[in-house]
Amino acid sequence: MSKSSLPSRAKIVIIGGGVGGTSVAFHLAELGEKDVILLDRNELTSGSTFHSAGLVGQLRADPTLTKMNMHSVDLYRRLQKTETPPSWRECGSIKLATTPERMEEIRRQIGWARTFNLDLKEISPKEAQELFPLMDLEGVLGASYLASDGQVDPSQLAMAMAAGARAGGVQIFTHTRVLSIQTEKGRVKSVTTDKGVIECEVIVNCGGMYAPSIARMVDVRVPIVPMSHQYLITDNFMDPSAPLLPSLRDPDSLIYFRQEVQGLLMGGYERNSKAWSADHQNFDDIPANFNNQLLGEDWDRFEEIAVNSQRRVPKMSEIGVKSFINGPEGFTPDNEFCLGESEVGGFFVAAGFCAHGIAGAGGIGKVVAEWVVAGEPTMDLWHMDIKRFGASYRSPDFTLKRISENYEAYYDIHYPGEERQSARPGKKSPAYEWHAANTAVFGEKSSWERVNYYANHESDDKLKPHGWAGKHWSSAVAAEHRATRENAGLFDESSFAKAIVSGTQAPEFLNWVCANDVVKGVGRTIYTQALNTRGGIESDYTVTQTSDTEFLIITGTAFSTHDFGWLEKQMREGGFNDVTIKVVTEELGCFALMGPKARTILAKTTEYDLSHANFPFMHSRELNIAGTKVRATRLTYVGELGWEIYVPVADGKKVWEALIAAGTDEGLMPCGYRAIESLRLEKGYRAWAGEINTETTPYEAGLGFAISKKKDKFIGKDALSSAKPTRKLVAMTFDDIRQVPLGNEPVRINGSVVGRVKSGGQGYTINKAIGYAYLPTEHTAPGTRVDVEFFGTWATGVICEEPLFDPENSKIRL
Ligand SMILES: Cc1cc2nc3c(=O)[nH]c(=O)nc-3n(C[C@H](O)[C@H](O)[C@H](O)COP(=O)(O)OP(=O)(O)OC[C@H]3O[C@@H](n4cnc5c(N)ncnc54)[C@H](O)[C@@H]3O)c2cc1C
Repeated sequence: MSKSSLPSRAKIVIIGGGVGGTSVAFHLAELGEKDVILLDRNELTSGSTFHSAGLVGQLRADPTLTKMNMHSVDLYRRLQKTETPPSWRECGSIKLATTPERMEEIRRQIGWARTFNLDLKEISPKEAQELFPLMDLEGVLGASYLASDGQVDPSQLAMAMAAGARAGGVQIFTHTRVLSIQTEKGRVKSVTTDKGVIECEVIVNCGGMYAPSIARMVDVRVPIVPMSHQYLITDNFMDPSAPLLPSLRDPDSLIYFRQEVQGLLMGGYERNSKAWSADHQNFDDIPANFNNQLLGEDWDRFEEIAVNSQRRVPKMSEIGVKSFINGPEGFTPDNEFCLGESEVGGFFVAAGFCAHGIAGAGGIGKVVAEWVVAGEPTMDLWHMDIKRFGASYRSPDFTLKRISENYEAYYDIHYPGEERQSARPGKKSPAYEWHAANTAVFGEKSSWERVNYYANHESDDKLKPHGWAGKHWSSAVAAEHRATRENAGLFDESSFAKAIVSGTQAPEFLNWVCANDVVKGVGRTIYTQALNTRGGIESDYTVTQTSDTEFLIITGTAFSTHDFGWLEKQMREGGFNDVTIKVVTEELGCFALMGPKARTILAKTTEYDLSHANFPFMHSRELNIAGTKVRATRLTYVGELGWEIYVPVADGKKVWEALIAAGTDEGLMPCGYRAIESLRLEKGYRAWAGEINTETTPYEAGLGFAISKKKDKFIGKDALSSAKPTRKLVAMTFDDIRQVPLGNEPVRINGSVVGRVKSGGQGYTINKAIGYAYLPTEHTAPGTRVDVEFFGTWATGVICEEPLFDPENSKIRL
């Protein structure tokens, strides 16, 4: 297994020989990359992989992840036919519902599985029992069944992928420990191991729960914590000639089962989670000799799961336990993988598989290998991108609190609008105390406390959506929406991510990265996308030119690391040496004053001439409000006349109060983020990670107006020029405003499924429910009737001309 002499250079070095590392190696080899080395400090599979339960389920809460897991199944089937089969057994899987809400979840999943051609079907309790006769049906309301799910031997799987990688030219060195990593000019340069140094261009950290310590070698933060995860295996008791049982998940009881030889393997997610060594400071360092090892049995924590398992499968109380496994596994703060290139050029991570790494490994290896080769993700991987983790995750304490909360809610149903509860309150706006004193109901984004709505604006539940969309709904949102349309709303958007890009090359650099022409003179504000080489939207933001060589970029709260990281990467790789990017998010508050009376209200606080002639749309000025110098930018994300006002944090509260006071007689209402969502959906303004992402081009998304026709070159231009869109984002409306799409529902035209919903909400001005979906261009004509499946029932809507509100923009350019 282990080769003797370590090469002194390789193009790509993979660290870690579990299912993650071997799959990345396998897929790199499939892509034709031959100059690849895989290193493991011990034997292959000696981390989490060897003690895995080996269940492979494909359906996940996210479409991309589901597609990845479907690739895993295809691959495992394929490997089963090779000389190193991984013991892939396609036994199917059952998921039980014991509450009406779980049944709704199942029906919703069946709906969107349809959009992938994944054959998930609803079965009756009796049919479930026929498939898994050991089960007691107490409390079971229904179930789903997916015949193509299965189980695999995790170690054999890693060995099979390693064999495939070797056959493709990858060299594997076990008992070779990475001790340090060297960088040069922000990129990886070499890896130092206990067997020698390897110069390289790319490193892929597939260290599983060891990934944080490997990443520390280049000062990259990987927020993963090893959590104890347990299962047991019973004595054999089943008839060896009987067909293999399907896997069984009973999420309401926190448990899962699969057949193991002639016994059962049973595990679950405890309500009292336990990090392996949580001292809240240094808990992700793993002992140097921890390989091929397990943790001590923790029966006390497992008791609830054991009791639940006996209720569901009575036989569990009669048969003996052959072995009990307590193994550590790397979990992330949101139960999604941690993938992609970090802020250090060429340093990739593929780790934190949160107890679904065996199911995910095939897909993970594919997307990460493609990402390494292309230098950018080849599909929308935002939910798994390491860059989704903001600065707060540098704190071990914050990270652990978030991970524990998530682990314990692993099997819970997550409703739209649900908020995280742990490690709050985090970052606060300068006007936070005012909000708190005025009945604000806060949400959280990237550890910022933000106003969702103000409870004192609540009235009745007439418009409360049916089903899940109504779970975290408030009537206050409609009131705030209407106040903004009729008079004015004041929104605290201080959490916006903000950066100053400066330097003599800043204009040239930004016009290379941005698809729009963003260099139009001091005081101009431009809405733009930054594209990848495939023409997909990497970022979506505004750029304000503040001097000949300085620009202010404003992007979404959660996108700081991602968007500014993308800029850093293009700067480094494009050789723009005289450009500096400085993140100023926490130096500036931001208040958005929006609505027909915005000018009247703002004029009461400043001497500045706010007339349209002196202060046109998409312009930015410095002016004084309540004695404080602020930057006011005339733009809107809600479809109304308005300004975003950037204010030094120290004076934020004073300026907020001055604006509130100025609006008292004008019907001004303080408003929250939920109202922004409703207003922007009505106006058709896109949200990155909502309707647009790295997989969608501006032309598909109806953003062609933001592409510069003048510029000879910018990243993505070639791809945009050569591709003819075959799908288009459309707005659909539903007459019943309470029938609100959540996202991922299948869309059917003339009886055929043609797409799935991207986003949805309520439009309180047009008095309809709204949904957006990408559909094949031939199906996008306004007036086309569409059927959308809501929890198993089809409802009819119609494709509408965009925007749904104020198509002439008459409200904005006043
Ligand atoms: C009890 C339990 C049950 C599970 N059940 C399931 C299941 O049913 N289905 C499912 O899909 N998933 C399951 N999982 C999760 C799955 O096992 C893991 O997600 C997966 O094995 C992780 O693989 P990996 O390659 O990321 O990490 P690992 O397997 O941990 O591999 C990391 C490797 O990196 C090496 N390494 C570390 N540091 C260095 C260094 N400095 N130099 C060189 N090498 C280094 C280690 O030696 C190790 O081999 C389970 C996990 C546990 C703990």
